Amino acid sequence: MHSASTNTNTGTGRPSVTVIGLGPMGQAMAAAFLDRGYEVTLWNRTAARADALVARGARLAPDVAQALAASGVAVVSLTDYAAMYEVLGPAAAALAGRVLVNLSSDTPEQARAAARWAAERGAVQLTGGVTVPPSGIGRAASLTFYSGPREVFDAVRPLLEVVTGRTDHRGEDPGAAALFYQLGMTVFWTAMLGYWQALALARANGLTAADVLEHATGTANSLPDFFGFYADRIDAGRHDGDVDRLAMALASVEHVRHTHAAAGVDTTLPAAVAALVRRGMDAGHAADSFSALVALMGTPAGA
Ligand code: NDP
Repeated sequence: MHSASTNTNTGTGRPSVTVIGLGPMGQAMAAAFLDRGYEVTLWNRTAARADALVARGARLAPDVAQALAASGVAVVSLTDYAAMYEVLGPAAAALAGRVLVNLSSDTPEQARAAARWAAERGAVQLTGGVTVPPSGIGRAASLTFYSGPREVFDAVRPLLEVVTGRTDHRGEDPGAAALFYQLGMTVFWTAMLGYWQALALARANGLTAADVLEHATGTANSLPDFFGFYADRIDAGRHDGDVDRLAMALASVEHVRHTHAAAGVDTTLPAAVAALVRRGMDAGHAADSFSALVALMGTPAGA
């Protein structure tokens, strides 16, 4: 059993929570807690970011230690874990008995180190990875991954479900939620950069984002079918070239790269894509599916 308090009730009968970090995410979370009748205590490096929330009834603590003391659970929403050490480090004595719901993004290794750091100070960390932007906070359909002690997760679940209605506990390993978050971000960042790249090409050809929105959306909507089709084959270790062949993929990605070069737009991203496909060709996968790249990408190039 963990010694941290999971009690979120106050003398007023209202549940309480502390929110540390008031970027767009922390602000949306604090607002969601106010919407649900929580007593909300805030702390942020830039105090002015609390103004609108204080006007709605939140309390701005004069320092981090008092913010931590105000509630059994502190939701931490900072840029990264380095910021967390900067913020919580000077108030470490106030951590004992607290549950830290750390919704800051960082690596699984950082999440594990922070869980140890918190435990050494008598606190318990639940690592969280929010999968929606600020507009999705407080909504029933939105999802957050969590990991850390199951009984603590269960005890504070009603509070977590204020942040996003859906929660997915990925196990006791404090790094697991961070890993799931980073898996999603791997798809997100490359997909969004692919979209920016297409828009750069569109604009170089006199087209607006609005002109290509429907086509780009249609392409994005086709991806889940590809994900599902290849998932089964990849897990079975099959990269048959019956549907697509890597030699075709190389020709195609080179067409993409040349189209961008001819339009005078940056080719960093198309060139990186072509280089990965060429790596598969060099490894002898010309007649295999481009899913063979998954195995190659499992080790650093040149290893
Ligand atoms: P921001 O980076 O905009 O804000 C984070 C907060 O961190 C601010 O309160 C900022 O304080 C504080 N901060 C940063 N560095 C320090 C420091 N050295 N010392 C003290 N405070 C510091 O992030 P968001 O609110 O957008 O997001 C919070 C977390 O959620 C991030 O980890 C992000 O990756 C993740 N996330 C964000 C999503 C989004 O769409 N925005 C979606 C999903 C996850 P100050 O106000 O003083 O600058």
